[in-house]
Amino acid sequence: MKIDLSMIAKSINEETEAEVEISLDMFRSRLGNFPITEKAPVTLHIRNEENAVVRIYGTVSVTVKVPCARCLEEVFVPVRFDIDKQLRIAGTEDSPDAGALIDDEMEETDYLHGFELDADQLIHDEILLNWPMKVLCRDDCKGICRVCGMNLNKGACSCPETEPDPRMAAIQDIFNEFKEV
Ligand SMILES: [Zn+2]
Ligand SMILES: [Zn+2]
Repeated sequence: MKIDLSMIAKSINEETEAEVEISLDMFRSRLGNFPITEKAPVTLHIRNEENAVVRIYGTVSVTVKVPCARCLEEVFVPVRFDIDKQLRIAGTEDSPDAGALIDDEMEETDYLHGFELDADQLIHDEILLNWPMKVLCRDDCKGICRVCGMNLNKGACSCPETEPDPRMAAIQDIFNEFKEV
C-alpha cells in the first residue's frame, strides 16, 4: 500500500490514519523464508508535528513460523512491536513538492520515495528489525542427534556419541553463535 504524504507534509498539526493490510503470507529475508500464519491490519497514525517532522506510529502484530534453532521443529512465534518513526521533511520553501521525507535513523530507506510511503515495505523492514534472535521450541530443547538426526525431545537414539543433555545442547548453541561472528 502506497500512501502519499505530500499534503500532510505541508500542514503542521495535521493528523491522519491509514489502515494497512499486511499482504504478505511469507516473510522473505536474508535469514530465509518464513510463513506468516497470523496477522492483523496495522493502523498507522501519521501526524505532522512541528519543526518539519512527520511522525508515523502504530503497532504490528504477526505470528511467524520459524524452525527451532536446535531441533528444527517449527515453532509459532508471535512478533509484536511498535513502529515509531520521526521523519524529517526536506525541501525548499520555493518548491516543497520537490522535497522528500528523510529517515535519519536508517541507512537505507527503501520505504520512502520522495513524499510517498510504501507501507508494506516499512512493515517488512520493521519486522526484520524486530526479528526474534533465537527461537527454541522450549527452553530445554535437547536438539537433534548429530549422528542419526533423531529429534532427542522424542526419546534417546541408540548412537553411542549422543549427549541427550540439554546443558550440552546449550553449549553447542554458544559455539555455533561464535562461529557465525
Ligand atoms: Zn527444539
Ligand atoms: Zn543418534
